[in-house]
Amino acid sequence: MSEENRRTIAMCEECGALYAAFEITAGEFRPIGQRDGCQCGCTEFTPVDDDSGLSLD
Ligand SMILES: [Zn+2]
Repeated sequence: MSEENRRTIAMCEECGALYAAFEITAGEFRPIGQRDGCQCGCTEFTPVDDDSGLSLD
């Protein structure tokens, strides 16, 4: 395990779709497996901090 980008859940600011995402820089998120951004074409994402037990593993 090396230090990697923080993994979180990000929500598309346009359509609200949720993606597992890496924080690539402070405040900037890229959905895993969605290099072009959201399916709707939006590339703006808001992190969703969820400690309720969601596991992405
Ligand atoms: Zn979207």
